[in-house]
Amino acid sequence: MKNQPEKIIIFDTTLRDGEQCPGATLNIDEKLTIAKQLARLGVDVIEAGFAFASPGDFEAVNKIAQIVGTENGPVICSLARAKHEDIKAAAQAIQPAAKNRIHTFIATSDIHLKYKLKKTRQEVLAIAEEMVAYAKSFTDDIEFSPEDAGRSDPEFLYEVLERAIAAGATTVNIPDTVGYTTPTEFGGLIKGIKENVPNIDQAIISVHGHNDLGLAVANFLEAVKNGARQLECTINGIGERAGNAALEELVMALHVRRQYFNSFLGRPAESEESLTSIDTKQIYRTSRMVSNLTGMLVQPNKAIVGANAFAHESGIHQDGVLKNKLTYEIMDAQLIGLTENQIVLGKHSGRNAFRTRLRELGYEATETELNKAFVRFKEVADKKKEITDWDLEAIVNDEIQQAPDLFKLELVQVSCGSNAKPTATVTLRNPEGEELIDAAIGTGPVDAVYKAINRVVNVPNQLIEFSVQSVTAGIDAIGEVTIRLRYEDRVFSGHAANTDIIVASAQAYVNALNRLYAWLQNQPKQEEVTA
Ligand SMILES: [Zn+2]
Repeated sequence: MKNQPEKIIIFDTTLRDGEQCPGATLNIDEKLTIAKQLARLGVDVIEAGFAFASPGDFEAVNKIAQIVGTENGPVICSLARAKHEDIKAAAQAIQPAAKNRIHTFIATSDIHLKYKLKKTRQEVLAIAEEMVAYAKSFTDDIEFSPEDAGRSDPEFLYEVLERAIAAGATTVNIPDTVGYTTPTEFGGLIKGIKENVPNIDQAIISVHGHNDLGLAVANFLEAVKNGARQLECTINGIGERAGNAALEELVMALHVRRQYFNSFLGRPAESEESLTSIDTKQIYRTSRMVSNLTGMLVQPNKAIVGANAFAHESGIHQDGVLKNKLTYEIMDAQLIGLTENQIVLGKHSGRNAFRTRLRELGYEATETELNKAFVRFKEVADKKKEITDWDLEAIVNDEIQQAPDLFKLELVQVSCGSNAKPTATVTLRNPEGEELIDAAIGTGPVDAVYKAINRVVNVPNQLIEFSVQSVTAGIDAIGEVTIRLRYEDRVFSGHAANTDIIVASAQAYVNALNRLYAWLQNQPKQEEVTA
């Protein structure tokens, strides 16, 4: 058993905790695409989902285990409540991975025991021990979480952890489930565990935390100083409520300030060696992919990956940066893969150049996908002379990684103007292949298009968010449209890119409706997890 790993273990839970936030629902292909990118990013563990929750969740975890869980790839993990049926489903789902892990949890705070579990402390102790041992019968790598540890009685917490480690837990994860603790308190909690759990050096201490008070990253860094060696985080910090600790912020804080953290990890103070296995150059691309596929936009002032994170607006700053970047920049934009937005391809670029550049950007497309994307590329290149990497990413995200093609948008036509009634005509093909045409009048062109689409698709829903962003500068820029719609208590997102924002709006809406439609056809079991 390693008790002091060389590096800080990065455990990514974008596909489990991150996917639990309203509207971030991903289909299996999208989860697989993100998992592949997480492997490229170099995360140590991917929590691929909660296998027992639904057949769709099981299949996603299982596929990721098969395809991404290679010998040199990350550990593939599934969450499971401390119940036989959950643990068994998790074990089956992760089985194909070369390295796999079961992550089981049970609440330990009095408030959860009394109101949620309706169990005594003694009963919880016995369940934790029994279920860790049961999980251990499937794989050696077992993570145990005492849910709501931040509000649990420390003495009881120590006892539960000791019993879980004795039963075979190799990682014990301390969640601040409700995002309530402060950095000093959280660091103290980890220190207490390190000092009071007799067999703690047989397990790695992990932390999980939510950002309700904006303290998740600060709490984690304090935990590292006190002995935590695994950090559970998500790309762009997505997750329930205010989200999880953001992977990019943790990794870059540990990278930029590595000399500050060296002593806490028993390293020479001057060591320049990286504290994580993350390839930081993949951070920006991963952030954009997760944002595009989940429909969860990144705020412009977000640390590390926000659009303004490396923009120096003030004149004094610009002058300083031009003279020497280090005057106001604590890190180089290239470090996160935010390269100069170069013009890479044009109208006359061939298929080979297109394919090669996509490979360099990390996209592996099948022949069919490549053909589809190349057709789109030519269309865009006709309208827009210079195609940048960001344009390419928008095209690929749009064409290759997309919601199920149940309804296909074939035509959208609008007429509008200062004295006209905005009118839209749409043609869609339904899943049975029939062509459906309708028209509607709206308050504006997008409203008219959406009303016309609604008349064809006929699934009642409420549009709750509509946002347009341009991928690159200039009047001929590609516009990206992200929308979220509500059906009963569920939220579905859609995303599309086009030089024509009305077309992008229509396609984004159809994509969201396709997700809703696919979900209606395959209703999963309703399960509640908050760990
Ligand atoms: Zn959580």
